[in-house]
Amino acid sequence: MNKDKEAEVFRSHRKLVNQSMAATKACYLIGCDAPTIRAHSISNKRLLLALSKDGHVMHFDRNSSDWGSLVETGRNAATTFQGMCGDHDKIFHPIDNYDYSIGNKEQEYLFAMRAAAKEFNTRRGMVHATHERILTNQTQDFPLSEAGLAMMENMFQPGFDLGLEDQKVTRRIFSDTYAKGKYHVIETAVMVVDEELPMAVSSTFNMELAYDGTLINDLSPDNYSNRMKPFFLTVFPQDGKTYVLMSYLRRDRKDYDFLHDLDKLDEKEKRIIVSNMITSYTENFTAEPEYWMSLNDETREKYSDLFASSLDPGHRPLVTDANFSLFPSDQTSK
Ligand SMILES: [Zn+2]
Repeated sequence: MNKDKEAEVFRSHRKLVNQSMAATKACYLIGCDAPTIRAHSISNKRLLLALSKDGHVMHFDRNSSDWGSLVETGRNAATTFQGMCGDHDKIFHPIDNYDYSIGNKEQEYLFAMRAAAKEFNTRRGMVHATHERILTNQTQDFPLSEAGLAMMENMFQPGFDLGLEDQKVTRRIFSDTYAKGKYHVIETAVMVVDEELPMAVSSTFNMELAYDGTLINDLSPDNYSNRMKPFFLTVFPQDGKTYVLMSYLRRDRKDYDFLHDLDKLDEKEKRIIVSNMITSYTENFTAEPEYWMSLNDETREKYSDLFASSLDPGHRPLVTDANFSLFPSDQTSK
């Protein structure tokens, strides 16, 4: 397929997804049907402002078919989502208006909840879009072939549907615990890097392999019925350091216990772990434009390769490239 056609197909797909996102928008809290607002998934006041240049940030490009390319966007457009009503968005006051302090259970819980809410919102829209695509294939601008349609119906749809079911379980847990202040359902391991990474990340995913290669979540289709153990990642710069909050449900603590040892590793290793984790697992992040432009070519290439390799079959290691770092001090001039 040539580039123009590819871009056209991508745009048409994006249109369908946008319609589905609009059709499914609702507040994350179960039982709340107040209208949604454009909620920030990354703190506006505390982080987006600091990471923007002339009102712009670098953000993952959803309108491109180039794997892992970043585009400059308005700071408000970048990471907002329609998955919170005005009242419930205020839940996040303690992380939007105050710096993070290590060990603050409420803040750690809220970071995880916000990552979960954004992911749930995206998933629900994607599931809707997939069903729409299958139902209305013939009237789409670019109908899928018989084979393509069968693949979507038999391979992708069941995986998407189950992914949403998993997210619903997580949503139930947050809905049940937030008002009662039961923050201990979330445990958080913190890794502090002694240098600022000019990026902010908020994401939920099912980590596949632990640092030592132990299997945590098996995402292969044969194991679709397994209960997933979700992981919540929040990364941001604060006072000359980078804070990496790695959260999980307390009930999954056996699998994620190793995370508490990561902060003891040396600085270089920590920078590599964060960089790999962000690149292989997340899309919801922003980067400061001048910083992103200053990455050297090797890092850029590695970023694209790593991002693309996250789609390879087989379990994803926590660190795929042991020499990959997004930190400014590792960008030796070339
Ligand atoms: Zn609400």
